[in-house]
Amino acid sequence: MLLKDLRTHYTSKIDPAEMADKKVSIAGWVHEVRDLGGICFVVLRDREGRGQITLVKKKTDPELLDTARGLMRESIVSVTGTVKPEAKAPNGYEIIPEKITLLNEADSPLPMDTTGKVDADLDTRLDSRFMDLRRERTTAVFTIRHEVLKAVRDFLSADGFLETSTPKVVATATEGGTSLFPITYFDREAFLNQSPQLFKQMLMSGGLDRVFEIGPIFRAEEHDTRRHLNEATSIDIEASFCDHFDVMEILENMVAYVYEQVVSNCSKQLEALGVELNVPQTPFMKITYDEALTIVNSYGEESLKWGDDLSTLSEHTIGNHVFTETGQSHYFIIDWPTEVKPFYAKPYEDKPEISKSFDMMHRTMELSSGAQRIHDPQQLRERIESQGLNPEGFDFYLRAFRYGMPPHGGWGIGCDRLVMTMLGVENIRDVVLFPRDRRRLSP
Ligand code: ATP
Ligand code: MN
Repeated sequence: MLLKDLRTHYTSKIDPAEMADKKVSIAGWVHEVRDLGGICFVVLRDREGRGQITLVKKKTDPELLDTARGLMRESIVSVTGTVKPEAKAPNGYEIIPEKITLLNEADSPLPMDTTGKVDADLDTRLDSRFMDLRRERTTAVFTIRHEVLKAVRDFLSADGFLETSTPKVVATATEGGTSLFPITYFDREAFLNQSPQLFKQMLMSGGLDRVFEIGPIFRAEEHDTRRHLNEATSIDIEASFCDHFDVMEILENMVAYVYEQVVSNCSKQLEALGVELNVPQTPFMKITYDEALTIVNSYGEESLKWGDDLSTLSEHTIGNHVFTETGQSHYFIIDWPTEVKPFYAKPYEDKPEISKSFDMMHRTMELSSGAQRIHDPQQLRERIESQGLNPEGFDFYLRAFRYGMPPHGGWGIGCDRLVMTMLGVENIRDVVLFPRDRRRLSP
């Protein structure tokens, strides 16, 4: 027998009205066996849902009944039988089996419950992620994450962006040497890249004009928060002949599109998570850094002076303020002090102490940072020096600015944070398959 014959349909793809009395095969995990004596129900689960197999004692071959009764939960089976409409069963049908094949038996006891009846804590779930993924809620999260990534790719491709892949093993820090993971590269020291920033800018000199990348970023920061990981997934773009306003428009439209696609294509998953999604309204509100400071200081919980970066508390204060005023969760903070932002952010020509930079915020946290970039090599070198970095380490990057670099801008948005804020999930670890943090390196 061919393996693909073990399953003719996903459990959710059997239409009881159309397929009554037809023969089908479903395959997956034994979710539950309920033996009521005269009748035995086996619930089989696959990625898409559940299907019920019904065995009536009087009408069933005793050997088949024994097989069904003896199934250990979470074992892998294939069931072949006929479809019978049954309003009370999942997806509105039951299967009257003629054959049950046990393909792989699960040990017991199980490391955790998969029915959703018993709540396991996050650490237990992450330790047994393979098992946690079998829970309907967890499957829903990662199905939605797929939809988010697909929508990003579709949106950016349709807007003329080329998908690129840049190296993750690098010789120089992107933004200073503090938060890098060193690795051994043959007989040299190398690092895991903290951002594709320098490479995506070099692609502008290469004439690729509009590029995006979805890939890992590595940060050796020792933070222990619910929104930071040491390995995260970043969605980055860079676009030539665009200023910061142009790339902000791309960002807000992309986020709105992603929400729309999830609303249209993931209603079942949103329902499983109990999430009602509102598509953010575009354009997003823009407040300046100065206005942000005024808001924070007016609440009196904190006192910030010009040139300070925003604390977590102040991000919440501003987010709640904007939400109360507008009913919207997403907004931009623009015109940051040049010194707060990385060296490649372009200062305003007439006011060099502020830069053409922005953060895109969700009510609860920063989602994205971006800017128009410096494209003049001399100015860029000076900015690198004035931030206390050694321009020699940036030679490979600065060269790309000397022989024809168009003006350009871009941003990076954390994919994990985009998904977690969309779903109202408290911890970033819930939306990352195998999170990497201070304590967790396995699985
Ligand atoms: P934060 O201030 O919140 O730590 P950042 O300003 O250091 O973020 P950027 O360098 O601006 O982060 O990176 C762009 C985006 O990538 C962030 O807005 C965020 O969405 C995401 N990101 C950055 N670092 C992390 C991390 N450690 N874990 C998860 N996402 C991250
Ligand atoms: Mn940032």
